[in-house]
Amino acid sequence: MLYRVIDATELPSLVRAFMDSYEVVAPVKQGRGYVFDAIESPDEIALDYDTTIVSPKKYFLPPKETLFEFDATVNEVTDFAVEITPRVIFGAHACDINAINRLDLVFKDGKYPDPYYTARREATLIVGISCMPSEHCFCDLWGSDEARFGYDLFLQDIGGKYLVSISSVEAANILEAACDPRVATDEDRIEFRHATRKRQESFNREVPDIQEVAMLMDAFHKDPYWEELGGRCLACTACSAVCPTCFCFDIRDTLDANGKTGKRERTWDACTAPQFALVAGGHNFRENGRNRVRHRMYHKLNGFLANHDRMLCVGCGRCVKACKANINPIEVLKFFERKGAEDGE
Ligand code: SF4
Ligand code: SF4
Repeated sequence: MLYRVIDATELPSLVRAFMDSYEVVAPVKQGRGYVFDAIESPDEIALDYDTTIVSPKKYFLPPKETLFEFDATVNEVTDFAVEITPRVIFGAHACDINAINRLDLVFKDGKYPDPYYTARREATLIVGISCMPSEHCFCDLWGSDEARFGYDLFLQDIGGKYLVSISSVEAANILEAACDPRVATDEDRIEFRHATRKRQESFNREVPDIQEVAMLMDAFHKDPYWEELGGRCLACTACSAVCPTCFCFDIRDTLDANGKTGKRERTWDACTAPQFALVAGGHNFRENGRNRVRHRMYHKLNGFLANHDRMLCVGCGRCVKACKANINPIEVLKFFERKGAEDGE
């Protein structure tokens, strides 16, 4: 890893240099929140955002996309030709970069890489930026408050300047051409350590730090708690829509009006939707809220860990804000905290 320092005043030049060759998407203010959107000027970027409503996942796994078109009369399928926009995601927080790293495990680095996801991922540069946690953030519990890989540049704010971690030649060349990067001094490193400590000390300490949550979930699989939690679920699927690591999808073939040609589409799906596990014949493998919510929490805090050695939840806090029934991983952690207290009585 190469480190350089740039002044904060050089940031607009860096953004403009990216805009010369890429579509740049960045956090911008929208209503009372923030969203990642394509920008036309560096002035639009709101780098002091807390969390965007939806994560940058949408640029790799769009909510809806056509996989291919077909002609049923001749039994032909058009070649895969997804439109790829060379893009820079500018200003992603560490948790969102860690979320993309998890999506990579599923869609890019697995046994059967997804060509649509992979093509978009390979045409995208990621520029991360340091942040301070909001009251809903708990990324520190799983070590997602730092991104160790998965970005091209990472900008750590060290007060009027940025310590830049560089991990791709393409981004390094643009940085070199647009700014006047200098070698980090001991003073810069000390400021980096101060900034890191300040961030670590700013997390909401009311979120219980229960590292053995995966094991506890197995032990309490049949606890009535899941009935209570799942019974509150409105099946609105907002949690999955905002989650940077939810990746379930549905696939549908639709015929054109001529009844001969059509297309196959992929759309986001959610395991909290009642019809998610409905199969032919009318059987539903997860017919009640208890099973659906418990499944979602298991996938986030247990199942993915067993397969990939890391939690699927990165602690971004989006579902904490989005769920009107107060169903989220923090609630699960609080349940195990209560259980631990009861056992100790
Ligand atoms: S857990 Fe919350 S956000 Fe998710 S579907 Fe249920 S009510 Fe909606
Ligand atoms: S489960 Fe909630 S807190 Fe965890 S990554 Fe998804 S949206 Fe963020």
